[in-house]
Amino acid sequence: MPEKYHIETRPVPPRRPRIGKCGVVDWREDCARCHNCVKKACVFDRYRQETQYIRGLNEVDNLFFECMGCFSCVQQCTKGILALAANPAYERLGNSYWTPEIIQTTWTQAETAKIPVSGAGYRGKFTGPGFDAMWTDMSEIVRPTRDGIHGREYISTAVDIGRKSPLLTFNDDKLTAALPPLVDIPMPLVIDLMPLEYKINNLLPFMLAAAARTGILMLVDYRDWNLLGADKERHLPHVVFYLEAGAPLPPTEILRRTRLVEINDSSNIERRIGELKTIHPSIVTAVRIALDSRGIERATELGKQPYIEVLHLVSDINGNQIDAIRPRFVKDMVREVHNALVKSGVRDQITIMAGGGIALAEHLAKQIICGADLVSVNLPLLIALECHLCHTCQPRISCPAHMADIDAAYGVGRMTNLIAAWHDQLIEVMGAMGIREARRLRGEVGRALFFNELEEETFGRLFGTRKAA
Ligand code: SF4
Ligand code: SF4
Repeated sequence: MPEKYHIETRPVPPRRPRIGKCGVVDWREDCARCHNCVKKACVFDRYRQETQYIRGLNEVDNLFFECMGCFSCVQQCTKGILALAANPAYERLGNSYWTPEIIQTTWTQAETAKIPVSGAGYRGKFTGPGFDAMWTDMSEIVRPTRDGIHGREYISTAVDIGRKSPLLTFNDDKLTAALPPLVDIPMPLVIDLMPLEYKINNLLPFMLAAAARTGILMLVDYRDWNLLGADKERHLPHVVFYLEAGAPLPPTEILRRTRLVEINDSSNIERRIGELKTIHPSIVTAVRIALDSRGIERATELGKQPYIEVLHLVSDINGNQIDAIRPRFVKDMVREVHNALVKSGVRDQITIMAGGGIALAEHLAKQIICGADLVSVNLPLLIALECHLCHTCQPRISCPAHMADIDAAYGVGRMTNLIAAWHDQLIEVMGAMGIREARRLRGEVGRALFFNELEEETFGRLFGTRKAA
């Protein structure tokens, strides 16, 4: 049996003061000095930590906001002088898609490499836009000793990237034709190019080192080759060069040490793929397609071409269709491309990678259920480094996360922890769904429930079809 895929992790504490959701306001002048003060009973020991924090304070504008909001001390104080206060800095994190909850849970995973646990049940909404409009069927969760990260059975998260033969033909027990090249990676995740507004050059070597440490791949614009640091040649098997239409190809000796290359969609991709295959016949080629108003049609058309091995479908950073007034969400667009290619009988021959809007580990699983073989991510790795996802990213001027000061141990450690936590969550989801292989999760919509479909089925015959907003 092959060795079990495992990512080594260790806790990597934050460099900056934590930005929690709430803190306790204490109106001390009315305090009765009770012997059994409720503050001593805080199960998270926050009051003692706050005192220590204040003693070592070196930035006066960062208050202590790490209360877990259990209300125990607030409700039990005999004089009623304790109150919970929301942290305005927490509420300013991210945007309407990358919510403060997503950013905070990413920080915790990057610190501990552990699966986030919300405690006494899920307290959030049961449906919403985007990935929140679908649920995975966890009915197999009744076998916790057998499944999941602690189970005895091996759940494989490995995937193959490339073109697959529709059939094998043999002559005298020998294959009559060579198999197309494939790249296998231990989990269905690659690190995508950073959006230009969040691209920070000094972080590129750390991202590549995290990709190498976890065995996954990282897309790098070839023009950034010189920014990849001293270990770039050693990490070449984990580099996927991204080439703009018409951009010069990397030198042959470098290209030949990579396994996958991505080119931007253009009118001459067949010729471009031909050039790359001439230099390096066993390289796998991916075509990046922007999910704009023509994206679905273009992907469906290209997916039927015999020279296509991988399609990389990319929405905007919030998972929305690019430049659309009423944008569709990435999971629905990928599902449409997947279904169209299934109908044409070619889906099993190509690989689909989907990017944009993947903010949590559950999104990874859901996007694969909607038809992608694997996903690409970028912003979660930046958030792992305590990024606030400011509306106007100004790393050199006033970056609250001090991105310019990051060292390798911290940067690589936090990104590795996040990838490990996502891997564990993928295994938990697959175990609970009764699926033993990530390859089999692809397109398994029978193992998911979609809010729109359930609503239509239940209420459609009474109230008619819901009108689009
Ligand atoms: S509300 Fe709960 S977690 Fe917060 S300080 Fe009071 S006892 Fe501790
Ligand atoms: S925290 Fe720094 S890197 Fe992150 S968005 Fe803000 S300015 Fe940019």
